[in-house]
Amino acid sequence: MSAITVRVPAKVNLQLAVGPLREDGYHDLVNVFHAVSLFDEVTAAEPFDVNPSAAPLGIRVEGDLAGEVPVNDDNLAVRAARALADRTGRSYRADLLIRKSIPVAGGMAGGSADAAAALVACNELWGLGLPREDLMEIAADIGSDVPFALLGGTAVGTGRGERLAPLETAGVFHWVFALADGGLSTPRVYGECDRLREEAGVAAPTPAVSEALLAALREGDVRALGQALSNDLQPAALALRPSLANTLAAGREHGALGALVSGSGPTCAFLAESAERAHELAALIKDVDGCRSVVTASGPVPGATVAG
Ligand code: ATP
Repeated sequence: MSAITVRVPAKVNLQLAVGPLREDGYHDLVNVFHAVSLFDEVTAAEPFDVNPSAAPLGIRVEGDLAGEVPVNDDNLAVRAARALADRTGRSYRADLLIRKSIPVAGGMAGGSADAAAALVACNELWGLGLPREDLMEIAADIGSDVPFALLGGTAVGTGRGERLAPLETAGVFHWVFALADGGLSTPRVYGECDRLREEAGVAAPTPAVSEALLAALREGDVRALGQALSNDLQPAALALRPSLANTLAAGREHGALGALVSGSGPTCAFLAESAERAHELAALIKDVDGCRSVVTASGPVPGATVAG
């Protein structure tokens, strides 16, 4: 096979409970991930340039958001392909092409998604035949959100979010995402969360999964799910980007069953009663100040999957 394309979803956090800062610099988390139908595509192809002095891993990015993504060794897809090659102890070559639709630095784990897709694509292109468990291990070394992009569906992550257990869900949930202008740096938002807690004299709680959330997912109860959504990073994201409060308020006002900042933001996520209500809601909030564009999506969807 000379080229493999993998489709990989964005995630929204249905619950993000942030515990104390650990000695290794990470926070203890309970992170309920939910994969939604907003996809990047990563193609790994045999290099056109067979010159042995050319870089072994080429990278290109296409789409409106391409200018915001590094096209060098810092790209998470390149890092993932290199980690996979290193694991085999042999040198491999590939040209990677990312078709970017997931917001960049938007709290929807787009970079992690591309890393997961590159692992699956290169495993196939290079004929390595590594099982999913091995790819999951490599994924966890690349970043906390990468294993979930391989797994997809709905899952609870503990530790720094990388220890995953799939969750039982019923039905399909419909979402609207309000994309903001410019991103928010994930480390900066965690830092602000710590600072706000310190300022208020509040100790970080031990994170625990919400039983109400688990029940709502199991029963496919969209209203209960809307009530149970929570994100401990939201106050920090709002402190750094106050305009997000308007976006969230507009969504609630127009009938969203739940409204929250996605992960570290600045994307805001709104839960709707049906696909039709999601489209209506999207049209109603698209002109709110600070909102660059809106997209609708549904979940859960599978993780990184070979598309051709
Ligand atoms: P998370 O939700 O996991 O905290 P995020 O969605 O907020 O992440 P990403 O879009 O994953 O943020 O990217 C964060 C930064 O990583 C970007 O600003 C960019 O500089 C860098 N980056 C590296 N590789 C990629 C990639 N393939 N796609 C997007 N960003 C990338």
